[in-house]
Amino acid sequence: MTTTDTSSADLPLTLRTIRLGATVADKAAAIRAAGQLLVDAGYIEPGYIDSMLAREGQANTCLGHGIAIPHGQQKDRTLIKQTGLAVLQIPEGVRWNDTQIVHVVIGIAARGDEHLEILAALTDVLDDDAAAQRLATTTHANDILAALRRGSPSAKPAAAAVEPWAGAVSVDVVLQGHAGLHARPATKFAETAADFSSEIRVIHGDRAANGKAMASLLRLGVESGSTLRIEARGSDADAALAVLREAVESGLGDADELAEATSPVQAWTPPETVTAVIIGTSAAPGMAIAPIFRFRAEMLSVEDTRGEPAAERRRLDKVIAEANAELERLGADAEACPVAAEAEIFKAHQALIADADLHADVVALIEEGHSAPWSWQQVIERRVDEVRRLKNERLAGRAADLRDIGQRVLRLFSGVVSRDPVLPSGKCILVADDLTPSDTARLDPKKILGICTAAGGPTSHTAIIARARGLPAVVGAGSEVLSLADGTLAILDGGAGRLYPHPEEFAVASAKQFQAELAHHQAAADADRFRPAFTTDGHRVEIVANIGHAEEAAAAVEAGAEGVGLLRTEFLFLGRETAPTEEEQFLAYTEMIRALNGLPLIIRTLDIGGDKIVPYLGLAHEENPFLGVRGIRLCLRRPDVFKTQLRAIYRAAATAEAGAVKIMFPMVTTLEDLRSAKKLAEAVRAEIGGPACELGIMVEVPSVVLMAREFAREADFFSVGTNDLTQYALAIDRQHPELGKEADALHPAVLRLIDLTVKAATAEGKWVGVCGGAAGEPLGASILTGLGVAELSMSAPSLAAVKAKLRGTSLKALRALAQRALACSTAAEVRALSK
Ligand code: PEP
Ligand code: MG
Repeated sequence: MTTTDTSSADLPLTLRTIRLGATVADKAAAIRAAGQLLVDAGYIEPGYIDSMLAREGQANTCLGHGIAIPHGQQKDRTLIKQTGLAVLQIPEGVRWNDTQIVHVVIGIAARGDEHLEILAALTDVLDDDAAAQRLATTTHANDILAALRRGSPSAKPAAAAVEPWAGAVSVDVVLQGHAGLHARPATKFAETAADFSSEIRVIHGDRAANGKAMASLLRLGVESGSTLRIEARGSDADAALAVLREAVESGLGDADELAEATSPVQAWTPPETVTAVIIGTSAAPGMAIAPIFRFRAEMLSVEDTRGEPAAERRRLDKVIAEANAELERLGADAEACPVAAEAEIFKAHQALIADADLHADVVALIEEGHSAPWSWQQVIERRVDEVRRLKNERLAGRAADLRDIGQRVLRLFSGVVSRDPVLPSGKCILVADDLTPSDTARLDPKKILGICTAAGGPTSHTAIIARARGLPAVVGAGSEVLSLADGTLAILDGGAGRLYPHPEEFAVASAKQFQAELAHHQAAADADRFRPAFTTDGHRVEIVANIGHAEEAAAAVEAGAEGVGLLRTEFLFLGRETAPTEEEQFLAYTEMIRALNGLPLIIRTLDIGGDKIVPYLGLAHEENPFLGVRGIRLCLRRPDVFKTQLRAIYRAAATAEAGAVKIMFPMVTTLEDLRSAKKLAEAVRAEIGGPACELGIMVEVPSVVLMAREFAREADFFSVGTNDLTQYALAIDRQHPELGKEADALHPAVLRLIDLTVKAATAEGKWVGVCGGAAGEPLGASILTGLGVAELSMSAPSLAAVKAKLRGTSLKALRALAQRALACSTAAEVRALSK
C-alpha cells in the first residue's frame, strides 16, 4: 500500500492524498478511511466523518463503475476547514450495496459546488470500462490524478459546436439548490426525463448532454444558479418540458431544498454503524447521553392481622386525611410548574383517595375483622388488577395512579418515611418497568437526564410530567431495556423514541453535536416565540394551542400561542362526581376569553366516550367504545348536557370580541350529525340572544373526508384531529399498548386524507386547521403547511419550535415536501424525508 502526497494546483479542488492498495473490512470502514485521509490533510474536522456516514445512509454515493464519492451532509458543512479531495484505492474492492463493488473511494470536502468539475471529469471514466478498471488496479498515483484532471478547466476539450435539433421545443430554466447538478439531482432529472418518449437534451454553455443519462448530465458540470436549456423533440415534447421545468425549479429534490423544508435539528441520524437500538415510543423530545440506572420502586406490603372494626375505621380515616394533606402540599408545590401538569395529577390523586366506593369496599373488609392497612391493600390490588385487565393504555396509566395512592396510604399506615430513590452519584438515564407519577415527580431532575420505561404509553402521566419538566423520555420500550446492566452507557433520543445502548465513541460525539444544535435552536426559537410564523416567501400560518383548563390559556399565550385552536372541554367534566353546571362552565370559558384578550378561542363541545369516561353520565358499557356513543353522538343523545354547555358557551361568547369564539363539534360522521348539532346550537343561541359564532367540525372520521365537499358547504371551518383520523383510517386503537406505535399520523394514507380534505374545503372557500398531534411535530407541521393547512394547534411546549421551523423555510419548499410525502408508500418513508 502506498500513500502519495500530491500537489494538484491544476485541479478545481486541492488533492493532497492518494492512498493506493488499501484493504478495508466493509463500506463503513472505507468511508471512515477516506474521511481520515481528509482529516490528515487538514480539510475537515473529525466529526465530518460521521456526517459522511450519515449521508451514505440517506443516499448512495456510488456513481457506478467502481467509483464512490462519499461526502458529508450540508448541515455539517461548518466542519469543513478547506475544500479538498482524498482518494482511497481498494484493488480488491468493497461491497457498497447488493449490486455494487467499489474500488476507488473519493472523499470530498466541499461546502458548495466546487467539486462539480471533478464529477464532470469522472463521468468520462464512468463511460469507459477500461479506464475505470485501470483506476481500480493502478499502482501509480499519477493515473488517478490524470483521470481527475480530465474534467478540470485546463483539460477541457475545445467545445464542439452543439448541433441544432430540428423540430425541437425548448425552455430555459435556472438550476435551484446550493450544490449544482451533482449526482442526486442529475439522477432525478434523468429519471423524470425517462418517463417521456421524446428525446431530451440539456444544453449548458457550449456542451450538450443526453437528458436521460445521469452520467452525461454530470459531465455538464452545472453550478447552482446557472441557466440550462432543456430541449425535447417527439410526440410528448411539450409535456416533457413542462414537467422537467417544474422539476428543475423545485430543486430536483436536492437535499438543500429538503433540508430547508425539513428539520435537521429535530431528528438525530445515528452513524450507519450504530446497530444496537431499542425502539419504544416517544414521550418527550430531547437527547440524553449517560449511563443507565435501573429504578426499582420500593413496594410496601402488609400482613393480614385482626383488628377491632371501630378502631380500624378511625385509623383508616386518619391516614386518608394525612394522605390528602400530603397531596394538597405536593399539588401546591407543583403549581409553580409552567403547565401545571403535575398539580393536576395530584388533584386527580386526591379525587381517587376520596372515592366513596373505594372507601366503602375497604370498610366492608374492616367490618369482617381485618386490619385497616390490609383491607386497603386488598382493595387497591383488586382495582389495579381490574384496570390492568382492560388492556387500555390510558387506563393502564390509571393503574399506576392507583398503585401510587395505594403505596402512599400504606406508607402512612406503617409510619415509614418515604425515601427518595437512591440514585447514583453522577447523572443517569433512568430505566424502569413503569413509573408512578409520584416516583417521577420525586426524581431529582439534576441527576436524571432522561427516562426510558419498558411499559407505559405517551399519554401516561409519567409522559406528561416528563414533558412538563423538559426531560427526554421514551416509553413502551419493552422488557429488553430492563436487561441492561446499571452503568451501561446509552444515548436516549426522546424525539425518535429510541435508546441506543453501548454506543461507540464516534456515535457519542455525533449525539453530542446534535444535542448542542438542539439546545441552540430551542433557545433561538424560544427567544422568537412571539413572532408570527411567516415563511420566507411571506405565507402566514396561524399557530395556536390545545388546552384543557382555564389556567392553561394564559400559559399558552406566554409560550407563543396566537390563540386557542382546541379547547378540550371534557377536561372540565373529568374527575368529578357531577357534571359542571352552566355557571361553572360559563366562568371557565370567560376566564379563558379574558386570558386570551381578543385572540381566537375554538371551543370544542364535549368529547366524552371512547377512552374518556364520566361515571355520572350513566353511559352504558360498550364493547368498542371508540366506535360507540362518543363526542357529538353522545351530545345529540343527551340534549340536557349539550344544551347546558351550549348556553354557557354562547353566554361567554357575548363577553368576547365579535368572532373570537368559535364552536367545534367532535366525532362528526354524517351530515345528519352536523345538521342536528347546528340546529340545536342555533336554537340555544336564539333562546338566550347570544352572538353568532362560527360552527366548525373536527375531521376525525374517514367518512367526513370522503364527503368533505358536502360538509364544507355546511360547516364554517374544519379542524383535522389527526389522533382519531389516524386511529379510524388505520384501524388501530390509539391507546393500544402494542399497536399504538404504528398509529402514525404521518402515514401517507392519513396525509392523503388530509390532502383531500384541504382540496374540498378550498373549493368551497373554507379553511382547514389541524389540532391533532401531527401539528406539533416540526415535520408534521411542515408537511401540513405544504398541503395547505392554514392553522396548526398544538400543546404549548411545541409552539416556539414549530414557529421557528416554518419561519426558516419557504412555502414553495414545503409544498414540494408535501408532494413527496404524499408520494411515499409508508410512514417510515415519510419520516425519512426529515433525515
Ligand atoms: C384528535 O383526535 O386528533 C384530537 C385532537 O382530539 P382528541 O385527541 O381530543 O381526541
Ligand atoms: Mg379526537
